[in-house]
Amino acid sequence: MSCIKQMLFFIGLLLFISQNILALEAAFLKPSERQWISKHPTIKACVETDWAPFSYISGEGKIVGLSKDYSDELAKNVGLHIAYIPYGKWEDILKDVKSGKCDLLNGLYYTKERAKYLYYTAPYLQMKEYFFVRDDSAPVHTMKDLMHKKVALVQGYAVTEWVKKHYPSIEVIEKKSITECLYSVSIGESDAFIGDSPSARYHLEEHFITNIYMSNINVDREPRELRMGVKKEYFILANILNKSIKHLSEAKQKVIRKRWMNESQEKTNWLLIGSIFAFILFVTFVITLFNLRLRKLVREKTAALEKLNHELEDKVEARTKELTHLNDKLLLAANTDPMTGIYNRRYFFDVSQQILAISKKENTPISIAMLDIDKFKNINDTYGHDIGDKVIKKSVEIIRQNLKRDDILIRFGGEEFLIVMLDTSLDDAYDLCEAIRKNMEEGYPIDPKTKVTLSIGISEFRIEDKDIDSIVKRADNALYRAKRTGRNKIIVE
Ligand code: GH3
Ligand code: MG
Ligand code: MG
Repeated sequence: MSCIKQMLFFIGLLLFISQNILALEAAFLKPSERQWISKHPTIKACVETDWAPFSYISGEGKIVGLSKDYSDELAKNVGLHIAYIPYGKWEDILKDVKSGKCDLLNGLYYTKERAKYLYYTAPYLQMKEYFFVRDDSAPVHTMKDLMHKKVALVQGYAVTEWVKKHYPSIEVIEKKSITECLYSVSIGESDAFIGDSPSARYHLEEHFITNIYMSNINVDREPRELRMGVKKEYFILANILNKSIKHLSEAKQKVIRKRWMNESQEKTNWLLIGSIFAFILFVTFVITLFNLRLRKLVREKTAALEKLNHELEDKVEARTKELTHLNDKLLLAANTDPMTGIYNRRYFFDVSQQILAISKKENTPISIAMLDIDKFKNINDTYGHDIGDKVIKKSVEIIRQNLKRDDILIRFGGEEFLIVMLDTSLDDAYDLCEAIRKNMEEGYPIDPKTKVTLSIGISEFRIEDKDIDSIVKRADNALYRAKRTGRNKIIVE
């Protein structure tokens, strides 16, 4: 038992020493103040549970916030311990401060009314207030813009008293918390909310309220100064905290501010990111859908155009064929003799230059034969014109049978023919014509009794010949001589 007593005494001594050592460390305190601390080592702080990021309950159920960090830091510097008591309503805190149940309020604004039952510390943070309005309402730049409108404010807050006092024409809708105020604006129950930027923004994000925006002009009154308040009997504590505030380094303050202000302001807005992502996805989907439809349309149109093109091409081809055929027919008609189907005189003169050029170039002989049916007038006279035509056709047939592949047969006149024999010497030409003459003599195209014969004049292309006329003339002379000398014969010139 005495052992336990000794232990308890020892622990108590340690606590006493440690607190005094801490208090001693705070050299800026007067001895009376250090003594006060040793008599009141634990301070009861009554704090809000719904005033993020200044004072609220974290996800783990702990009291956290900027005000708590400040009060902890200030208390630590002077060797004090703070016990935090959570309150859902600000009104209740004020009530308990008045009755002396709360020693300390770690974050509040100055009002004359509160000064009646509280001592204030020096401010530890300055803050401006802003208007928070619904997206669809007219912008609010000054308090005058809110005249005869409804403004949601937290019961007992300094700003609430200020609005009530200075703007009686504004209808104040009092709520228990910032969240309730913001909901009231969001659903259209009130037109605006007035509050500091960090806490309002925090609650908007926390509760996914997306139809409210913050004015970029602050409320035209002095910046709010966040202070601590102590109950009247603890005026010494106010002095101690003031000294602690003075000695709190700017670096430490920055760390605290950065932790809470940035956290609340720069909190990732997943809803916004999600919405943007969904929107981009939707736009991409619509564009893809549109592209697919467009592609299908282009494919269909291209196919239709290709079909049309093919049809047109077929039509053009058919038309071209028709025209070529017609052209060939016309050319044939122009170059051939309709009765016998062989080339006419015109054709001969058209191709004569080419024939000579080939012979010159290849240095090959060309022979020409002129053939004329003997006493054809008599045939006409005796048997009639039709039989005469038949004789002409039969003669062409006999002549053709004896021609080589490249020889050209021309109806030169009525019963007069011309044969161009390419690459053929005079001797060869003679042999060929002799065969024709003989076949004609033995052909009897009219009847077995009536002989039809041919007289033939042959000539060969000579180097001194300038054109085809010279050879034709020589062949014609030879033919004339054959006629004069008895007919049914061949003369070469
Ligand atoms: P030669 O032996 O001197 O050549 O005497 P020929 O009677 O044959 O000569 P001529 O020039 O006096 O007579 C040729 C005749 O051929 C005159 C013409 O009416 C006839 N004739 C010309 N072309 C045709 C034709 O296409 N058909 C018919 N049936 N007769 C034609
Ligand atoms: Mg004749
Ligand atoms: Mg003749």
